[in-house]
Amino acid sequence: MAPRRYKGIVMYRLLIVIGLLVILYFLVRSAIRELSGGKGQAQVLTDKNQMVQDPVCRIYVTRGSAVAESIGGQTYYFCSRDCAQTFQKQLSG
Ligand SMILES: [Zn+2]
Repeated sequence: MAPRRYKGIVMYRLLIVIGLLVILYFLVRSAIRELSGGKGQAQVLTDKNQMVQDPVCRIYVTRGSAVAESIGGQTYYFCSRDCAQTFQKQLSG
């Protein structure tokens, strides 16, 4: 009887630990999101050599030379202002 009860306690503790880890994960993730939001410029600078695709003309450009537009909470990168405007027109219909 004793081992079975012990096993139940271990399972219960494991669930609590997993629950705490999940909470911790969300806390850390929201903290990171807040930090990266506040230091958006620094993030762009470190990733400026990363290749991004223009969603309009499908051309790949480096993030440093791309035209960045924040649309609906998401950042899109374009080869030129023309493509950014075209994309916004497409979204608005
Ligand atoms: Zn383009």
